[in-house]
Amino acid sequence: PLPLSTWARNIAPSPTLAVDAKAKMLQAAGEDVCGFAAGEPDFDTPEHIKDACIAALKAGKTKYAPTPGIEPLRQAIVERYAADYGLTIAANQVIVSPGGKFSCYLAVLATCSPGDEVIVPAPFWVSYPEMVKLAGAAPKFVLCDDRAGFKLSPAQLEAAITPRTRLVILNSPSNPTGAVYTRDELAAIVAVATKHNLYILSDEMYEHLVYDGTTPTCVATLSDDAKARTIVVAGFSKTYAMTGWRIGTTVAPVPIAKALTDLQSQMSSNVTTFAQYGALAALKEKEKTAAALKVMMTAFDRRRKFLHAQLNNIPGVTCLLAQGAFYLFPNISSFGMSDSDFCARLLDQEKVAAVPGSAFGAEGYLRLSYATSDEIIQKGVTRLAKFCASLR
Ligand code: PLP
Repeated sequence: PLPLSTWARNIAPSPTLAVDAKAKMLQAAGEDVCGFAAGEPDFDTPEHIKDACIAALKAGKTKYAPTPGIEPLRQAIVERYAADYGLTIAANQVIVSPGGKFSCYLAVLATCSPGDEVIVPAPFWVSYPEMVKLAGAAPKFVLCDDRAGFKLSPAQLEAAITPRTRLVILNSPSNPTGAVYTRDELAAIVAVATKHNLYILSDEMYEHLVYDGTTPTCVATLSDDAKARTIVVAGFSKTYAMTGWRIGTTVAPVPIAKALTDLQSQMSSNVTTFAQYGALAALKEKEKTAAALKVMMTAFDRRRKFLHAQLNNIPGVTCLLAQGAFYLFPNISSFGMSDSDFCARLLDQEKVAAVPGSAFGAEGYLRLSYATSDEIIQKGVTRLAKFCASLR
């Protein structure tokens, strides 16, 4: 048979999507599965956003749009960065892409060449290493465990840099840990990146999902140095329960923005034109959007606190209280088995679906998404406790 390409043979399929698919398959077969694997809000997209998209579709917004996005949406993104962070940018620094995942991939392609190294703090979002490899570059992992609050230190970054290092990827709030860096912590990391003249990809996909009064930081606002070297990725998927819409956003210095646009023009053209009008409504109809977000955040926060307390009640399990996103990342290393075995047996015995920490580059943990109903969380964590008890 004809061999597939090295790209096709070397890519690892997304382990989070795989666990979620397996849970859904068991469910379809009639099993009562408690799924903690999905990385998406369990809420529907707010009505006013859907209505704006439907209206655009009916009004004939069905043709190609400019590659980097429709002008009113790019302008609304400029305005929202000014309002949210006091960041001054122009519309030509904004690119709207088919999903934040694609935004990240373009950012890697625009900055990394074959042979370059990219520093990826672990636990990491599963797609970063694969994107880096698809660009012909090499991921260099730096483990940041629970004792470090899952955060990269400036000294760790410094130690990982070589003459080949081109880019460092930051993700705060983090998937899979929910960790949120403080402004000072990020400033110290940017100082190291500046000293070594690295690019920074700051994935701020979960910026609005923060708890306990935590303030998110947009890395481009830290300094002129930060702004000159940072590509900020964000989007609509998680904040506005719009995962299926596929709309991500990038803010970058003009030369990088132009490169991203050129790459996108050959790889995907524009984001679905009428979908962009829905995104525009999310930013423009502020009161309705804020009200919808508040409902989701109240539920997420309640579930976060409940799940965190329940996990720490299980003998052998310890879990940090994450300040962002909708994930907890408990440590299960005391049970003396690999996290993959733990998850496989947990699904088999108790029908609870969780993703092993090793999928995110950190052995000995589970990622539990609490973007699911209170009932499932309650039932699932009870089963998890029973399972843990059976192992002791
Ligand atoms: N970045 C992080 C950290 C994520 O967790 C995700 C989604 O799982 C994305 C980016 C991509 O989001 P999108 O669905 O917009 O492609």
